[in-house]
Amino acid sequence: MARLKQRMRRFAQKPASVDLAPYKALLDKVDKHSSGLSELSDEELSAKAQALRESDFDVTELAAIAREAAERAIGQRPFDVQVLGTLGLLDGLVVEMATGEGKTLAGAMAAAGYALQGKRVHVVTVNDFLAQRDAEWMGPLYKLMGVSVGWINQSSKPEERRDAYQCEVTYAPVSEIGFDILRDRIVTDAADLIVPAPEVALIDEADSVLVDEARVPLVLAGSTTSDHADPVIADLVKRLRHGLHYEVDDEERNVYLTGAGSEAVERALDVDLYSQEHVSTTLSKVNVALHAQVLLHRDVDYIVRDGKVHLINDSRGRIAKLQRWPDGLQAAVEAKESVKTTESGEILDSMTVQALLSRYPVRCGMTGTAVAVAEQLRTFYELEVLVIPPNKECIREDEPSRLYATLEQKEAAIVEEIKEVHASGRPILVGTLDVAESERIATKLRKAGLECVVLNAKNDAEEAAIIADAGSFERITVSTQMAGRGTDIRLGGHDAEDHERISELGGLYVVGTGRHSSSRLDDQLRGRAGRQGDPGGSVFFASLQDDLAAQYTPDADEPSEVDDDGRVTDKGALHTFEHAQRVAEGVNLEIHRNTWRYNKLIERQRDLLLEHRDQVLRTDIAFDKLGRGDHEGVSDEVLKHAARVITLFHLDDLWTHHLTFLSDLREGIHLRALARQNPLDEFHREAIPAFNKIVPESWELAADTYASAKITSKGYDLADSGVKRPSSTWTYLVHDNPFGSGLEESMKGLVKMVKGRR
Ligand code: ADP
Repeated sequence: MARLKQRMRRFAQKPASVDLAPYKALLDKVDKHSSGLSELSDEELSAKAQALRESDFDVTELAAIAREAAERAIGQRPFDVQVLGTLGLLDGLVVEMATGEGKTLAGAMAAAGYALQGKRVHVVTVNDFLAQRDAEWMGPLYKLMGVSVGWINQSSKPEERRDAYQCEVTYAPVSEIGFDILRDRIVTDAADLIVPAPEVALIDEADSVLVDEARVPLVLAGSTTSDHADPVIADLVKRLRHGLHYEVDDEERNVYLTGAGSEAVERALDVDLYSQEHVSTTLSKVNVALHAQVLLHRDVDYIVRDGKVHLINDSRGRIAKLQRWPDGLQAAVEAKESVKTTESGEILDSMTVQALLSRYPVRCGMTGTAVAVAEQLRTFYELEVLVIPPNKECIREDEPSRLYATLEQKEAAIVEEIKEVHASGRPILVGTLDVAESERIATKLRKAGLECVVLNAKNDAEEAAIIADAGSFERITVSTQMAGRGTDIRLGGHDAEDHERISELGGLYVVGTGRHSSSRLDDQLRGRAGRQGDPGGSVFFASLQDDLAAQYTPDADEPSEVDDDGRVTDKGALHTFEHAQRVAEGVNLEIHRNTWRYNKLIERQRDLLLEHRDQVLRTDIAFDKLGRGDHEGVSDEVLKHAARVITLFHLDDLWTHHLTFLSDLREGIHLRALARQNPLDEFHREAIPAFNKIVPESWELAADTYASAKITSKGYDLADSGVKRPSSTWTYLVHDNPFGSGLEESMKGLVKMVKGRR
């Protein structure tokens, strides 16, 4: 009965992926267009590609030319499955192709195809290293097809960025594109703009970018005053005790002082924490310090290197240059670790990754794991998934997860398993959930006499080189899941003869030290093995003390069958554990949906405001509106410029304040939910009128400033009139809003809700 119902439901729902058959049918046409191409000289082939620009664009002809060009330029003739990928991408789909199937090449052929249709393409990568590597690797293909290509990374200078964006195809990490757009957001001279209007986004690792990182805000901040964390308070919270002075909620997202804690703090600082004077100052400092002390863990959330705190990017397990937390928290962590406080500032603007990619009228993407997030891709981006089969069938053997009662027992079993498998010389990739776990496992392996290579949030290029060798004889590589992403693991590393020997040993063996918060992430790790039809295997270890089980099935029964090594064998417990992952997936989806609902309005407002700003920036409407005033003997040119700068200043300033208002509003809104008002309606009810005031108010303020400003024929100085641009700006990503108290962090409610629904 249940099965029947399930089947019915499957019929009723839209399928998770689009039909491959029509694309397969195009392959014949591609072959037809291919005939004779191999006889052409390179020049003739280029000319043929260029002729596509003028013609009625035919994707099958493009695919044929691109395939020929790839064979000559890259030395690899694209397989049919790669051509299918190219066709899917050119149709605006997210193509699912397993790891190692050659997405880089399929993507480049599609990007060239878009370019030859006169559309500018941004190939969005997950990191700096891949942007440069892929652009350079595919460079000869683009060259032969007569399409210009460039790339950007964190260290690119403004001029280099401008040049790269002028190319028809630009490879760049998602964060850099976002930061460039945010920086463009505050220019006062149209000539300083860097990023051209968005046209096509071709997104690599599309599920990571579009789903896992979608909610990540990209932030542009400008220097103002610096706020220092109080070392006395940092010291004080170190002495507070869990359970007595403070409590942490089950999801480890919130920490709060108990009555005893408040008293202890009041005694130590000799203040009344809850008095008017201290609530918004001392108390909030204590809370932030507590958050830094208790919820942020060294080597998990951040590392300390060269006397600085570096954030570890959750989903990638690596550090990134310009990243920092919102100011109070950054300072608090710096105080906790007794390192020097860095400059702080005011948030000028921010946008989420999702909003950034939604700007592109054409979007497409590729990834090894798309079907699992098909629903999200459809809801949030109107994207459909096309599943492309592997070139050679995957013969990897995935074993069922092994569940243990305690963390200790799990890790002992992992070491035991590695020791056993390693004896044959079979290469092993150990995928961990975070850097601290990598270190711990590596230490245990070494104690057991097993040599291993550990990847720890170093630089991408180095990691890529190490990961590329993870398939070598006797190699044991310990790595956070995402390190070295996008890099192929060949059996035998660079030694082709070794391939045979290692295949006979069973190929690469992937050992996951814990299940991720979604099965999709587990699959990404497994996908490291068994690529291009190679043999391979994978197994995951888990324990009931893992975060996943502790957070998402906190009220599970004790397992009834546990063997001497702590391995849990009873069906019920195994089932409950599998359930935890589904609960986690549901919670994340719910959070995403929630953020999306709120952000939709904010993004709409942002677009409207930007449209208006652009007009002020590019035309003389400010001067038309403000007139000449009393500025005698000053040329129109000078006045036009001054009017524009003044108007932009007020507009930007009001927007910055509006953003703060919105985030306060959002944080406070859950309290109204308690009063039985619909929080989203309430949010809209206040956010809309507040926004509508911005433009009229900017004109009023601009008129005042313009009237009082000292503008002479020689120029003007607006600083006296309060018009200041930030002296410096910087950008960062916020991986999870650590201050958000209300919505997103009311995880408990969400866990309950999602569980109840299933
Ligand atoms: P993915 O991103 O899908 O995991 P990559 O683009 O990194 O895969 O390619 C995987 C490997 O396959 C690379 O080493 C690449 O050189 C190789 N490759 C890709 N396409 C072909 C092809 N048509 N013929 C031979 N090798 C290929």
